[in-house]
Amino acid sequence: MGSQEFEKLKKSTPISKDATMNAQLQRVGQRIAAVAPLPNAQWEFVLFDKPDVPNAFCLPGGKVGVFSGILPITKDDAGLATVIGHEVAHAVARHGAERMSQDTLFQVLEEVALGRSSDTNRALIQQAYGFGVALPHSRDQELEADHLGVLYMARAGYNPHEAVTFWKRFADYNNQHGGGKQIEFLSTHPLDSKRISQIEGLLPQADNEYRKTGAK
Ligand SMILES: [Zn+2]
Repeated sequence: MGSQEFEKLKKSTPISKDATMNAQLQRVGQRIAAVAPLPNAQWEFVLFDKPDVPNAFCLPGGKVGVFSGILPITKDDAGLATVIGHEVAHAVARHGAERMSQDTLFQVLEEVALGRSSDTNRALIQQAYGFGVALPHSRDQELEADHLGVLYMARAGYNPHEAVTFWKRFADYNNQHGGGKQIEFLSTHPLDSKRISQIEGLLPQADNEYRKTGAK
């Protein structure tokens, strides 16, 4: 599901030609894909050239879109692994993957690509519930995606403590650039002290997984 819409989005949205950033996405994405239990996934990682859109998504079939606006915030491989791990976890856990018509899905992806999903077409987006791109998941789903995502990044050999670093960096970025308004990814991923303390509570388990990879 979602492959056709992903193809349409690739045709209608500019794809980044930046070799360094593309290499980073492929490098990190493949490592997460190798440990994520998404049956029948046809993994594909595409970097869209949208410097003003700090967002990312994973469709149920393993199609991952990253908008270049998130890269200054993810900053390094572990930061990007945090975001991809989290989005892939929503897909693995099938959070709201149902009930979306193909057309609706495409329209929502377009809205996201245009960076206006939070302000327009509220009804459409509500209908399209899911993907972590358009509408907030429930708090339980966010916690589950954080939990699984941190385990995936650890199993892929990224230090899970970097997830906490990433979220703190994202909060700082939003304070500096949000202009009093939450930027898009944060509007669907409420960041408060609870979120960070919950992730910190998951670290002992994630550290265990990380050590099994032989990383230090
Ligand atoms: Zn999420």
